[in-house]
Amino acid sequence: MADYDSVTLYKIRRLVSELENVKGRGTELISLYVPPNRPIYDVMNTLREEYSTASNIKSDTTRNHVQEALTKIMQRIKLYKKPPQNGLAMFCGAIPKPGKDVEEFVLYEIEPPRPVPTFLYRCDDHFQVDILKDMLRETEVVGILSLDSSEASFGVLSGNSLQIVENITSGVGGKHRQGGQSARRFERLREVELNDFFKRVAEHATKIFIEQYQVRKLIISGPGPSKEEFYKQGYLDYRLQNVVIGVVDTSYAGDEGVRETLERAADLLRDVRLLEERRLVEEFLGEASRPDGLAVYGLRNVIGALLAGAAETVLVSEDLNMRRLEFVCNKCGNVVERFVEYREEPAALADGSQARCPSCGATSWSYRSMDIVDYLEEKAHESGARVEIISSATEHGQMFKSFGGIGALLRYRTQ
Ligand SMILES: [Zn+2]
Repeated sequence: MADYDSVTLYKIRRLVSELENVKGRGTELISLYVPPNRPIYDVMNTLREEYSTASNIKSDTTRNHVQEALTKIMQRIKLYKKPPQNGLAMFCGAIPKPGKDVEEFVLYEIEPPRPVPTFLYRCDDHFQVDILKDMLRETEVVGILSLDSSEASFGVLSGNSLQIVENITSGVGGKHRQGGQSARRFERLREVELNDFFKRVAEHATKIFIEQYQVRKLIISGPGPSKEEFYKQGYLDYRLQNVVIGVVDTSYAGDEGVRETLERAADLLRDVRLLEERRLVEEFLGEASRPDGLAVYGLRNVIGALLAGAAETVLVSEDLNMRRLEFVCNKCGNVVERFVEYREEPAALADGSQARCPSCGATSWSYRSMDIVDYLEEKAHESGARVEIISSATEHGQMFKSFGGIGALLRYRTQ
């Protein structure tokens, strides 16, 4: 998922949760998933067939809605020579408007974060979003195996969490023999025991990293030479051996070694989102704790810095859940903005539309409403800044949330 920045993923997540709650009036909401290798003419043929099948639908309204949705989809599909890299997902249909008697047509077109596995056409009373949801859940999983001759721990790093799955001990004795034992015999015994231990480690690795977690990258770490012996002598299943991205020195083995690997292998793990977020939050906390540090937080301060061109990176908690409402006076053009939580939006819209314009006294407004992240991204784009979404599930994410869930790293201080 490295190609997808945090804002794009945030938007897909938001759309999924929006579509999930949509209920059609009849069986008339269309979901379409096109794999990357599916020829466009093939997709068009399927859609044309569905169009003619739809003429058998008894209800006039449903039939018209289905055929209109299919027409809209075909108009979009025709614009492609071939599907995008990861294929395509489309959702189209007539959605009942709350409180009104009419439906409104919507069409969403998404390039999914992972390749679409199989072609799917579905016409139902809801949208089929499970495939997208699975893609979002599945982030890159990295395995960490930390071992020496006495113990081994198996850690799994996925998206925004590190979990230590298991720890096993070897029972192999120290390097120093007991009195009375011959040196040769002692060495041979130790080697046999170590060999058995390595085999056991490899079995656990297969069970944990392949069967349980499907890791895509593996890092082996530990103090001393055992880890290299283990790696070079090919104990690992070839599927794991092929995804080893590094062998790293640490001071400890076991659980502590797994945690230490995160620090030591920062280069190897550059693309892992957890670490990227941690780095951003740490930088933010560092700056925010100094009296003249290059950071601000709180909605107003961040937007102020952004509009002044002083913000470099804007950090937003994934569940900030805010919208920006903008009211423009129809008489004098005066603009009033409001920031509200999602659930306060309907009340704020009603309230704002009835308000009197502070500059001319009129009560006629046009308004637009957008997710706060869309607004921040629009403003960031204008000044060459970027927006990063910070997950809330992590310890760092929680620390960041205590600053109000929104902050910015600055290029320079504005005051
Ligand atoms: Zn006015």
